[in-house]
Amino acid sequence: MRAVTLVSPDTVAVVDDWPEPSCGPGEVIVAVHGVGLCGSDLAVASGRRPVPTLPWVLGHEAFGVILAAGRDVTDRRPGQRVVVEPNYACLTCGPCRSGATAGCTARRAAGISEHGLLAERVAVPARFTWPVPDSWDEADVVCVEPLTVAVGAVHASGLHEGDPCLVVGAGAQGLLVCLAVRQAGGVPYVIEPHEGRRALAEQVGARSAGARTAFPAVIETSGVPEAFEDAVERVAHGGCLVAVGLSTRPARLPTFTLVQRRLTLRGCLIYDHPVGFAQTIAMLRSHDLRPGRVLRERFELSQAPAAFAQASRVPGKSWISLPRTEEMAS
Ligand SMILES: [Zn+2]
Ligand SMILES: [Zn+2]
Repeated sequence: MRAVTLVSPDTVAVVDDWPEPSCGPGEVIVAVHGVGLCGSDLAVASGRRPVPTLPWVLGHEAFGVILAAGRDVTDRRPGQRVVVEPNYACLTCGPCRSGATAGCTARRAAGISEHGLLAERVAVPARFTWPVPDSWDEADVVCVEPLTVAVGAVHASGLHEGDPCLVVGAGAQGLLVCLAVRQAGGVPYVIEPHEGRRALAEQVGARSAGARTAFPAVIETSGVPEAFEDAVERVAHGGCLVAVGLSTRPARLPTFTLVQRRLTLRGCLIYDHPVGFAQTIAMLRSHDLRPGRVLRERFELSQAPAAFAQASRVPGKSWISLPRTEEMAS
C-alpha cells in the first residue's frame, strides 16, 4: 500500500510498497482519509526531531473509516468514521492513573515514537479512535486533534469569560487557540509577524495586539524564544502564561518580573485521555465552531513531498487527502 515516508532528513517520498498493518486484538484498522500537518511533523521531516528509524511513516492528525476490528474490540465497528487520538497512553503508570496521561511514562506517539498515520491503512488501539458524525465536513474533522491541544491550552490559562487573551503566533495552532479562546468567552488578540497569517487570525475573530500589555492570560504558540520573552512582558500582574510552542533554544526570563508580577508559567503538552478528545468532540457537536476555517492548502497523497516542503511557509494549515481505497482493500 502507499505511505508517505521520510527517507532521509528533508527528503519525503511516497512509497507504494509499505507493508499492510496487522490488526491486534484491541486494535482497529483505519482506512485513512485525511491527515493534517503540524509543526511537529515538519520538525520530524526536517530531521530536527530525530525518529527511531528510517524510512519513517510521517503524520499523526488523521481521520478515516474503520475497516476491521480486532477480536477484543466490542465498541467499534467497520464502517464507523473516526478521528485518531495519536498519543497512546499506557493508562497504567502513575501519571495515567492520576488522569494526567500527557505525562505518561510509556506513551506511544504516532509519527514520533512509532510509525505515523500518513498511510492508506493503519492499525490503531481501538480506544484511541473517536467516532464522529458522517455529516461533519472533512476540514473540521481533520482539525479535531490540534483543536484539542488548543482547548487544553486555553483551559490551562485560567481564562475567564470576557477576558482578553494574547495569542502569540498565528500558525495553525495559534489560529485554533484563537477559536478556542472565543469559544471560552474570551477575546483573542494576536501577535504575528507574517501578514497572511495575521489576516487569517482576523478572519477567525482575533484582533491585532499592537503594543497592548497586561493580559490576564497569554498563550505562546510560536516556540520562538524572543516571542516568549516579549510575551512575558505582556502578562498582567497575577496573570498566567501558557507555553505550547517548543524550542530547544533558551529564552530569558527575569525572575524579578516573575516574582514581582506574581506570574504563573505553565507548560502545556497535548491533552489527557479520554477527557481531551471527549470534550472537543462534544463542543463540536453543540457549537458551530468550524475549525476547518484554519485550513488553507489541501494536497493529494502523491503531492505529499510538496505539502511538507511548503507547509511552514503557507499561512493556515496544510492537509493531505487520501484516495478512498476501502473497496479495493476488501
Ligand atoms: Zn499535531
Ligand atoms: Zn501511562
